[in-house]
Amino acid sequence: MSSPSPRTERGTGGEAPTVVVVGAGFGGLRVAKALRRAPVQVVLLDRNNYHLFQPLLYQVATAGLEPEEIAKPARAIMRGQKNFDFRMVDVTRVDFAAKRLETSAGPVAYDFLVLAPGGETNFFGLEAMQRHGLGLKDIPDAITIRNRVLTCFENAMLEPDAERRRALLTFIVVGGGPTGVEMAGALSELIRLVLVKDYPRLNIKDVRILLLEATDTLLAAMPERLREAAGKTLWRKYVEVRFGASVADYDGKQIRLKSGEIIPAATVIWAAGVRAAPLINTLGLSAARQGRIPVEPTLQLTGHPEVFIIGDAAYREQDGEPLPMVAPVAIQMGQAVARNIARQVQGKALEPFRYRDQGTLATIGRNAAVANVYGIQARGFVAWVMWLGIHIIQLIGFRNKLLVLINWAWDYFFYERAARLITRD
Ligand SMILES: Cc1cc2nc3c(=O)[nH]c(=O)nc-3n(C[C@H](O)[C@H](O)[C@H](O)COP(=O)(O)OP(=O)(O)OC[C@H]3O[C@@H](n4cnc5c(N)ncnc54)[C@H](O)[C@@H]3O)c2cc1C
Repeated sequence: MSSPSPRTERGTGGEAPTVVVVGAGFGGLRVAKALRRAPVQVVLLDRNNYHLFQPLLYQVATAGLEPEEIAKPARAIMRGQKNFDFRMVDVTRVDFAAKRLETSAGPVAYDFLVLAPGGETNFFGLEAMQRHGLGLKDIPDAITIRNRVLTCFENAMLEPDAERRRALLTFIVVGGGPTGVEMAGALSELIRLVLVKDYPRLNIKDVRILLLEATDTLLAAMPERLREAAGKTLWRKYVEVRFGASVADYDGKQIRLKSGEIIPAATVIWAAGVRAAPLINTLGLSAARQGRIPVEPTLQLTGHPEVFIIGDAAYREQDGEPLPMVAPVAIQMGQAVARNIARQVQGKALEPFRYRDQGTLATIGRNAAVANVYGIQARGFVAWVMWLGIHIIQLIGFRNKLLVLINWAWDYFFYERAARLITRD
């Protein structure tokens, strides 16, 4: 069944140009919101009906939060915006010449197009890892990890063989960036503060959590003092951090490092990289690093002034460095593109985009985080409170803020995790 194209609908709403936005993530949603007073019709397309707060996905994966606490339906977020329409469709192709998208529900025409499809887990061609390892990019990934960790504990209870039991209780996180560090810290706390009470017959000494990093540092974007603090905090939480540890292979039972070392492990979580979403691959454009598409300073696609690419899918350098694939970049790009579309409609010159870096934060469990925000460096409890506050503020919707706060407080005071269910697909 094909839905009517926005061009058809435009006939009812006057001659306002149609801005089609692909992706209800951080970038796309910001474009749609920022165009609320512009003389345009906005059509937002996403394969999911929700906006996901990805920075807290690891909390779903480690049974701290439920998915609905970190996601909200796009229609609910945009309710009340008159020039807005949402469609839950998968975008499969872009026909730049015809100014039309192919989607799972038929073609959609545009006057302006904003591509904000985000990224996907980058396994760097390691097919075995893609098959057996666990990525963390969306809600199903997070639930899969949660199920796996909890199932490994259940199976370990039933396993008479000591070696196989230890493999079931060995959890490997690959990648020492913010996601890997947060994941390893939260996993350690789930196991050592909560699961240890659920499985009193298991020997906690059989549990191993390893964080493998190919380079010689964690959190490469952080100042050295904070990187060291993060490493020490992980050690204190019994996470074995291995530097210079590159993965060669993983068959679902044991991981082989390039050094030749073999570690039996039933669970490997891959947090070592992201690349542009698959849709970007289908555009027939030449890509830069991580499959991202280079854009003009105005964020337009070269040769297509009516097309903009933003967020994780866009490649732009600033002061000689590529902009990172993080939420603030996507949000600020979304804001800038909305302004530029409004200017283009009014026949004004477009403005170049400049990213204002507010800094980075990473949490390593209770009372522990590292923060480099607005030039202020903090670690330990102070950084953790900063992290808590910033993430609560950024969560969409009062209900989500409240639920997350209650869950975190419960977890903090009672050493509990609310969402310890093993669910079947
Ligand atoms: C586990 C994890 C932790 C992170 N932690 C942090 C953090 O702490 N701080 C930080 O700043 N950043 C963090 N990031 C990165 C941040 O989430 C991204 O940089 C940001 O989401 C990029 O925004 P975006 O708008 O480009 O894409 P996204 O927010 O990824 O949104 C893309 C949207 O496009 C939709 N989509 C994709 N393809 C199609 C298609 N073909 N058809 C229809 N819809 C499609 C998707 O469903 C999605 O809703 C984290 C990311 C992950 C995965």
